[in-house]
Amino acid sequence: MDVTLAMSWSVPRRPSSSPTRNMIEMPIDQALRELAVATKGFMPADEGDALHAAAMSAGEALPGRPWVEIGSYCGRSTIWLGDAARRCATVLFAVDHHRGSEENQAGWEYHDIEVVDKRVGKMDTLPFFRSAVHDAGLEDHVVGVIGRSPTVAQHWSTPLGFLFIDGGHGVEPARLDYEGWTPHVALGGTLAIHDVFPDPADGGRPPYEQIYLPALAGGRFELASVTGSLRILTRIA
Ligand code: SAH
Ligand code: MG
Repeated sequence: MDVTLAMSWSVPRRPSSSPTRNMIEMPIDQALRELAVATKGFMPADEGDALHAAAMSAGEALPGRPWVEIGSYCGRSTIWLGDAARRCATVLFAVDHHRGSEENQAGWEYHDIEVVDKRVGKMDTLPFFRSAVHDAGLEDHVVGVIGRSPTVAQHWSTPLGFLFIDGGHGVEPARLDYEGWTPHVALGGTLAIHDVFPDPADGGRPPYEQIYLPALAGGRFELASVTGSLRILTRIA
């Protein structure tokens, strides 16, 4: 059996008579998809496509609302979301301090020596991110916000049509992203969470325990679809 099919399901969308219905089913531009896949990062292509589809739906549900991505790294997921933002005539704020998560640091599994700024001896993914957004032609629709996610969240007040959380995967960063950002998702808006692994054998627990479970338990969100480790939730209350 096809594993990706087995791991994907979604609540059927209600039929809509909206003239933009066909637009939300429009996938990412093929050349941009190839660019995304060639960009350093951690977003599998099928999950990137699902992220794009969810963002397009959110753009239709709440036109004009801005979107936020927490954790852009070198801009791989940002290309899928930025393409959707362009098609929906909105803006994606891409929040990252660009110094890498714990698991990206030297000695950890997801470390990449190429993204270290030798002058300061720290990771710096900002130049990679900037090139990716430029090369994708998305500079009018992606606004990089360079800083710590909880600091930005503390000063954020605009309701969001779409929120994608893929930042720090430790307990504390995940908990702070849940607390700081999910209240900003507008009613009818979308919360997307990456690296949700209910089975600890598949990966780290915090996105599951600190973001996904509390979001459902709080009664504000319901599950709309699952693709690999990507969970798409809708704000209902
Ligand atoms: N979405 C990316 C992968 C993100 S990796 C992709 O598709 O490939 C996680 C990113 O979160 C890293 O770039 C790291 O710098 C960022 N990050 C981790 N904790 C953060 C925090 N507290 N504030 C801002 N960014 C953070
Ligand atoms: Mg991820």
